Amino acid sequence: MSGISISGLNKTFGKGVTAVEGVDLQTPKGSFLSLLGPSGCGKSTVLRILAGLEEPTAGEIRVNGETPHELRRSHHLGIAFQDSALLAWRSVAANIRLPLEVAGIKPEPGVIEDLIKLVGLEGFEKARPAELSGGMRQRVSIARALVVKPSVLLLDEPFGALDDMTRQRLNLELLRIWTEKPATTLMVTHGIGEAIFLSDLVAVMSPRPGRVVEMVEIDLPRPRTPEMMRTPEFHAFHDHLSDLLFGHGS
Ligand code: ADP
Ligand code: MG
Repeated sequence: MSGISISGLNKTFGKGVTAVEGVDLQTPKGSFLSLLGPSGCGKSTVLRILAGLEEPTAGEIRVNGETPHELRRSHHLGIAFQDSALLAWRSVAANIRLPLEVAGIKPEPGVIEDLIKLVGLEGFEKARPAELSGGMRQRVSIARALVVKPSVLLLDEPFGALDDMTRQRLNLELLRIWTEKPATTLMVTHGIGEAIFLSDLVAVMSPRPGRVVEMVEIDLPRPRTPEMMRTPEFHAFHDHLSDLLFGHGS
């Protein structure tokens, strides 16, 4: 069954800026897709259209067989952005609970506690966002994205603002979480390494107006381990994606 299905997607803002033009993209249900491309090429626009936060100018979009609006109504969509976008006056637990409140769903007993454990924030249930480090705030935002038990997960540079060490750790956690319940996932990222490490497929986009230049299948075995990042296969993917992004000889 198909996961993300985008055909002939165009998006023009106002009268002028064509953000994406002729984007075609297909992934299987339950697969992990990363979107790589230069700044301003329309990656976030694609993600926001999938999330139903932005209307396409033209094109057909389905995610797990649903339109973006059906997907939002079904409450099986989890989203996390680069800035964790937490509510400052709410505790960690209350931030994680928020999507359920919005959907009018009463959390099953233990669900919030389990998520807090899953992202390694035990003991911080009652803390406010200002009392947490950047990495901890991003973990809250990942937990909040997962609270609806998403069958679709949209991540826009979720760890983009963090230092490399924290980022690597959170990528490992994301991998573990995703492996437990493989949602149909789209992650926008600047990190070639993390895209390879996490993904089944990596779509490389051209500069604006963004198109998909190449869809690279990452056929490294699962479960993935950090040691794989030192294999010749991993380096070959890295070289290939760098060539696509930056051109040969750079
Ligand atoms: P990326 O995420 O790849 O950096 P974006 O999808 O954010 O790129 O933006 C693609 C292009 O569309 C950029 O030129 C950006 O300025 C423009 N753009 C994005 N959102 C809007 C908007 N709401 N109004 C006008 N232009 C926008
Ligand atoms: Mg962006």
